[in-house]
Amino acid sequence: MNALLSIEDLTVQYRTRNGYSLAVEDVNLEIKNGEIFGLVGESGSGKSTLGKAIVKLLPVSAEIPAGKIFFKNRDIITLSEQTINNEIRGKEISMVLQNPQNALNPVFKVGTQLVDVLYFKNNKKIKRKNLKQDAIEMLKKTGISDPEYRFEEYPHQFSGGMKQRVLLAMAFISHPSLLIADEPTTALDVTIEAQILALLKDLVREYGTSILYITHDLGVVSEITDRIAVMYAGKIVESAKTDDLFDEPLHPYTKALLKCLPGYSSKEQLATIPGQVPNLNNKPTGCNFCPRCDYCFALCQKEEPRLREYKADHSVACFLYNQEEKEEAEVEDEKVNEKEGA
Ligand code: ATP
Ligand code: MG
Repeated sequence: MNALLSIEDLTVQYRTRNGYSLAVEDVNLEIKNGEIFGLVGESGSGKSTLGKAIVKLLPVSAEIPAGKIFFKNRDIITLSEQTINNEIRGKEISMVLQNPQNALNPVFKVGTQLVDVLYFKNNKKIKRKNLKQDAIEMLKKTGISDPEYRFEEYPHQFSGGMKQRVLLAMAFISHPSLLIADEPTTALDVTIEAQILALLKDLVREYGTSILYITHDLGVVSEITDRIAVMYAGKIVESAKTDDLFDEPLHPYTKALLKCLPGYSSKEQLATIPGQVPNLNNKPTGCNFCPRCDYCFALCQKEEPRLREYKADHSVACFLYNQEEKEEAEVEDEKVNEKEGA
């Protein structure tokens, strides 16, 4: 089966006063039909940049020097803004963001905004009044009680959790093939978060939509995802089926993220990962995680490990699991030493 979304060797960089900042580097990932795919990493690891690249919403300061983003076998990067607008964004691919406060227009009624999505999805061919019932149905599906009444209200009359439900209604009403959910529950309290996650799962089951779920919280993705990719300093350092990642985390960064989860480690005090994501204008030579890694050895400071399949459906970019690469590099080392000695 072909993947719905297939990202190949994608690099995204921002032009800054201090030169180029490499936010996404050589990323490869695939999302299948109906799959919930989690993208996890600390703040600044490049998750949102990757999400925005998929719907061509990167700011003008961003450049894509390399890579392809195949969605239904068409490379998004090569499509015109007009094609993206008419055929992809908000239709085939929807997006839900962290802060529902800013995503709804305060001057229009919630119902009007929902109907608008359908109106444009149908290329303005169906009258707005004939779309009202579908919009109300969708509000009901997302758990808004008394939807007929709520349809006539303005965003400020909704709580944060209800606004996020409305945004999910807006995202799903056009029956997209892919939803990019960028930290959709971070601004909500844990009870509402759990409800929204359960709702997402229901909607995926009903509509067969695939989701790219972006979050810094491994705990959240464990609840709903089929597969997870862990991102660090713009690169994917590990990817696996969700259960495999939790049962046998490989990369020291993944292990460190897991230790930070409440309930995962037996220690009473929550762990934190010392240090921070490196400066993307000036990444360290070798493995990006090396300065914070307990297992870092000489080779890691010199060479960058590539993402390789360690076992079926479980890839990792770390020399600890890549004997072949390690040995190759060590042979190189010896040669250099021989030359120096000569
Ligand atoms: P968070 O969890 O905080 O949302 P993130 O993983 O989504 O973080 P991004 O927002 O993709 O990270 O940022 C990745 C890197 O790109 C960061 O170093 C950030 O400073 C940089 N960056 C993001 N947007 C811009 C921009 N418009 N101009 C310059 N640099 C940017
Ligand atoms: Mg982000």
